[in-house]
Amino acid sequence: MFTTTRFDTWELPSSIMNGLNEAGWEFATQVQKDTIPIARRGTDVIGQARTGSGKTAAFGIPIIERCKPTGQLQSLILTPTRELANQVAEELVMLQGDSDLTILTVYGGTDIEKQAKTLGNGVDIIVGTPGRVMDMTERGHIDLSHPSLMCLDEADRMLDMGFFPDIMWVVEKMTNREQTLLFSATFPQEIIDAAHEFMNDPDFVLTNAESLDIPPIDLFSVRVGRSNKLWVLGRLLSHMKDDDQTIIFCNTKRMVDLAVERLKKHRFEVQGLHGDLSQNQREKILDRFREGSVKTIIATDVAARGIDVDAITLVVNYDLPVDMDSFVHRIGRTGRIGRSGAAWSLVSRDDAPQLSRIMATYGLDILPVEAPELPEGMDRDPVRRQDDFGETADVFGYVTLRLNLHPKDAGSSYAVSSWFVDALKCDELAVGEIQFEESSTLVSMHTSKVGLAMKALEKREFNGASVGATIVE
Ligand code: ADP
Ligand code: MG
Repeated sequence: MFTTTRFDTWELPSSIMNGLNEAGWEFATQVQKDTIPIARRGTDVIGQARTGSGKTAAFGIPIIERCKPTGQLQSLILTPTRELANQVAEELVMLQGDSDLTILTVYGGTDIEKQAKTLGNGVDIIVGTPGRVMDMTERGHIDLSHPSLMCLDEADRMLDMGFFPDIMWVVEKMTNREQTLLFSATFPQEIIDAAHEFMNDPDFVLTNAESLDIPPIDLFSVRVGRSNKLWVLGRLLSHMKDDDQTIIFCNTKRMVDLAVERLKKHRFEVQGLHGDLSQNQREKILDRFREGSVKTIIATDVAARGIDVDAITLVVNYDLPVDMDSFVHRIGRTGRIGRSGAAWSLVSRDDAPQLSRIMATYGLDILPVEAPELPEGMDRDPVRRQDDFGETADVFGYVTLRLNLHPKDAGSSYAVSSWFVDALKCDELAVGEIQFEESSTLVSMHTSKVGLAMKALEKREFNGASVGATIVE
């Protein structure tokens, strides 16, 4: 397994640590680990890492660290599009915590006069597109002779034929340039050649996600509410073949027990494994798992340490692990010695942020998918799916329904809301806000009534017409 690097081992300025804490980032991604220490030393860097690997912070953190809130331009970051400029600037603003730097975007399509005035108030870091930066420089609103750092994001695009002359124009004006950072997902040879024209003995860092010790397995995630995780699990287990074996991970002993109990009720043969069992009991279970008489184990992370059974083809994260390294340990249980394997994560709304953190930290592609279909020849779910509107509800417990009802046919909000109150025999409060769109009507409805409302719409007509409805996610 590979090691992780926590941001707090780098002795970054406390203002940046505050930004990172605020963002909830603990671990550096691979490209950040590979390039930040070099860039902090002032060395020129060419960093190549795939999309989504965290390149923005890889240059953002060292750039923020070297700038002071003086109001004089110190760093210039160029991006190929204004969207990207905005994204990069937003991330820098987040990462700088309470550094107090003025970070501005400069791109075309915005009011030049206004921009000139803003720039006139002082700026420490500019994130911009080449055209407008050149324009503002020629008009005297940007002084490129001052900044000592230039960074090109998506450098492959910045240095191709289209932008190259602009970049060289900027480079020539940046007479005080000391450090240059280039980041991109790809670096064709001609781009590297072009870069050498204006870089000073750069370190080329290729972050190769494949070099991580992650087995070649398929990673999937299914968005599902807590109450339907067992339904998805039932589907996954119903796809198992005779010599497949599975480990299902839960975060707590209690959850292991509950899942075992409920799956047994649905006639699955599963075995729980956690720290409350005696050493002896655990070894017995593991022996039976190794010899294959037990096919499916439901375990906590601690209890599953050291299980290496080659026939494990499926790992399920019933819960996402709180500790990110556990994710890698868990999925490492399958796909051993060249066998295929899959790891599925069941992700409720509360789990979603942790999933994206895991993906970013390890550079994993976890494909979001629907629950698998039932296998051929099976017509009933082993575990029934429950109505669960809690996942889509807002903080007040309301879910939005989109009715196939033209505002003209709806009449008024009052007519719509009375129809529901009458059809559901419910309190007026269960029906929330009603909004009219171009050709449909949005009704917000308390979760407790959504099931009833959907049924009522199937059975009853609205002013003589039948009205279909869908839940707005
Ligand atoms: P790239 O530029 O390599 O395509 P980004 O810099 O846009 O990738 O980062 C991808 C996502 O990962 C962003 O949402 C970013 O906020 C997030 N991210 C980056 N680094 C980390 C980290 N160390 N921990 C958690 N999330 C991160
Ligand atoms: Mg990027």
